[in-house]
Amino acid sequence: MKKILIIYTGGTIGMIQDPKTSRLMPFNFSRMLDEVPELNKFDYQLDTVAFDHPIDSSNINPEIWIELAGIIKDKYNDYHGFVVLHGTDTMAYTASALSFILFGLNKPVILTGSQLPIGMIRTDGKENLVTAIEIAATYKGEIPVVNEVAIYFENKLLRGNRTVKINAAHFNAFNSPNYPVLAKAGIYIHFDYNALLPYKKGDLSVQDKFCLNVGVLKLFPGIQPQFIDSIIETEGLKGLIIETYGSGNAPNYPWFKERIKRMSEKNILIVNVTQCNEGFVEQGRYETSEVFNKYDVVNGLDLTFEAAMVKLMRVLAMDLTLKRQKEIFLELWAGELTISSSYFKVD
Ligand code: ASP
Repeated sequence: MKKILIIYTGGTIGMIQDPKTSRLMPFNFSRMLDEVPELNKFDYQLDTVAFDHPIDSSNINPEIWIELAGIIKDKYNDYHGFVVLHGTDTMAYTASALSFILFGLNKPVILTGSQLPIGMIRTDGKENLVTAIEIAATYKGEIPVVNEVAIYFENKLLRGNRTVKINAAHFNAFNSPNYPVLAKAGIYIHFDYNALLPYKKGDLSVQDKFCLNVGVLKLFPGIQPQFIDSIIETEGLKGLIIETYGSGNAPNYPWFKERIKRMSEKNILIVNVTQCNEGFVEQGRYETSEVFNKYDVVNGLDLTFEAAMVKLMRVLAMDLTLKRQKEIFLELWAGELTISSSYFKVD
């Protein structure tokens, strides 16, 4: 019999409406499962672990990622798969984080949640939960079909560290713009075996150090030098993501270039990701991105912002030279990026 562990962290799926304020707030987990009697029809052993204080995922932080990874590590050999119930707002960050903590993962870790609480008549939570469990229990003989951290939501299974939340109102809330859907659920669940990470024999190793001295600079027309100066002067800043235009471009005013130079002199690890939903960064393609190559800014290729931020926190926590941290940032850890921009040949 397949054994699946459901880990409940909070999120809309388990919330109820406060009768006084009408606001949604986290709810008792055991009562939540009572809302899904369908679970009793599974031929699996379903066990549950719930956070003592379920949270709205806006309150998630790296300590909680470490706690979650710890639960999975402790129970790793006892279960065939794991389902993590999580709020949708930061689900893509948590999925990225788990994928960058759990090295050698060769079991399914499926995150899901919902846009409407599970107790509401039109909830999307039941289908999401039931199918996430089914995916976590799908094996071919002794080998799990999914050997990675993934998000299941509204009939799609997506690689966690490739996923972004795209809609705050629709049930179809996520996509993975630069990577194929791992599975589609209709009457049957169709897996894309070419897109899934392959099974690798071996042990799980947990690497869970994060450096929080990081930040983000999103470019916009009219940005002022003193705003960037305040970022550069942030005490202890070690890493910065710059969200640039298009294929990694930025203004090429002398003052902007001078700021990038100053950051590089301060040994800040800068990563260039695009504001576009799809496509990739190609530093040096335009004159307006040359400055980034000149000062050895990391070309973030097709990383999502979420994955880039979490990976930056992990890399900066490694006791390595800046040069080595930059190299490791661009290595493929868990299928999060397309390794070379030559992959994306523009016709
Ligand atoms: N604010 C909620 C959360 O992320 C939204 C959701 O779960 O859909 O916890």
